[in-house]
Amino acid sequence: MSHRRPKGTYDVYPGDPSRQEPHERPDLWDRLYDAVRDLFRRYGYAEVRTPVFEEAELFVRSTGETSDIVRKEMFVFRDKAGRELALRPEGTAGVVRAYVEHGLYKLAQPVKMWYFGPMFRHERQQKGRYRQHTQIGAEVLGSDDPLVDVEVIALLYAIHRSAGVRKEVIHLNNLGDVETRRRYVPELRAFLERHRSELDPDSVARIETNPLRTFDSKDPNTQAVLREAPLIGEYLSEEASAYLKAVREGLETLGIPHVLDERLVRGLDYYTSTVFEAKSPVLGAQDTVGAGGRYNRLVEELGGPDMPGIGFGTGVERILLAAEAGGGESALDAFFVTLTPEARLPALRLAEALRAEGLSCELDYAGRSPKGQFRQADRAGAAYAVVLGEEELSGAFCTVRDMRSGEERRVSVAEGPKELLRAVAG
Ligand code: ATP
Ligand code: MG
Repeated sequence: MSHRRPKGTYDVYPGDPSRQEPHERPDLWDRLYDAVRDLFRRYGYAEVRTPVFEEAELFVRSTGETSDIVRKEMFVFRDKAGRELALRPEGTAGVVRAYVEHGLYKLAQPVKMWYFGPMFRHERQQKGRYRQHTQIGAEVLGSDDPLVDVEVIALLYAIHRSAGVRKEVIHLNNLGDVETRRRYVPELRAFLERHRSELDPDSVARIETNPLRTFDSKDPNTQAVLREAPLIGEYLSEEASAYLKAVREGLETLGIPHVLDERLVRGLDYYTSTVFEAKSPVLGAQDTVGAGGRYNRLVEELGGPDMPGIGFGTGVERILLAAEAGGGESALDAFFVTLTPEARLPALRLAEALRAEGLSCELDYAGRSPKGQFRQADRAGAAYAVVLGEEELSGAFCTVRDMRSGEERRVSVAEGPKELLRAVAG
């Protein structure tokens, strides 16, 4: 009897890259994780790790009773004591819960955190949409400085850029404060009521509960109706408009491509003020690579003091899809080709010395002929093949072949691996 992976999931495994989706390739995950960790270090963020399951109620309170996530997508289960738990569908709720639980609001603010981990949503599988996906996220708590918004968006953009996402534009909007929504929502609701018969059922259901989110509808008729709808920008308070302007100025200063998108509202209840989505046309239907926004009411909502916050979540699968798969770099610095059995231990010793200097090296462990070893070096994406045979051993040198140009040269190892290191690292 054999088993298959659960619906909507995928494996990351060392296979034939030409037949794998980018997010199935371990080399691409490694490279992305390293780049992301280094970026967060440069911006001064600390990694936070929270459980992959929480009380289901946490997500209901934060994401909102009427959100798609809570209504349709959560994996909910009971533990043996009957507690209702849920696999986390997103990262913000757990991080804010931890901020409150550990009293992090007593530290110097803002507290800047990042995470990288699996999220679970019961969705219909499509390209770029899975039941287990992985998000890279950031949360900054305890400051409502608009330059924090700029930093967070810049960081999202930098992550996508370093991964090779092409043609990305940041869509930006401001949902205003409580006052703004108090004035705007009744107007929008009245408009939607007038067009009730032209809307899809989901949108009709939202007229009462959360009319803002009708903008999220993918139904073409609803979208057509909404082109005439009143927009939140006309209702922003002076303060909120000034805030939006400050964020745009910051993005301008950093040269980050962005547009004001007044129909951008986001699907989660906790957003206030700044919201944004990073879009790449390369993705087609699922064109949002990552998204986020401010949640100035959420900390208090979850039992903490009145503290503002902002964050983003971006999907690893969509980043890798939107990126130029493969990239130019070699996967491996050197592959050691041994022409005689006696060369294996010296090769092992040299490989170990190069690894200690941070280079990646491999040897043959499958008893291949020299020709087979060269073929393997090529398959493994090695930049150099380092050849050791009888002649090399007696002369205390190795032959270094540049795998791209085919050029070969002798490198002495009489005085240790120093020269070889220079030849391969250069
Ligand atoms: P969508 O409108 O595509 O459903 P969303 O609003 O539900 O997106 P968010 O909650 O903002 O998405 O999640 C942030 C990011 O996480 C998304 O931009 C996407 O990259 C990724 N993501 C969300 N759900 C999935 C999923 N089911 N599979 C893969 N990636 C996902
Ligand atoms: Mg969704």
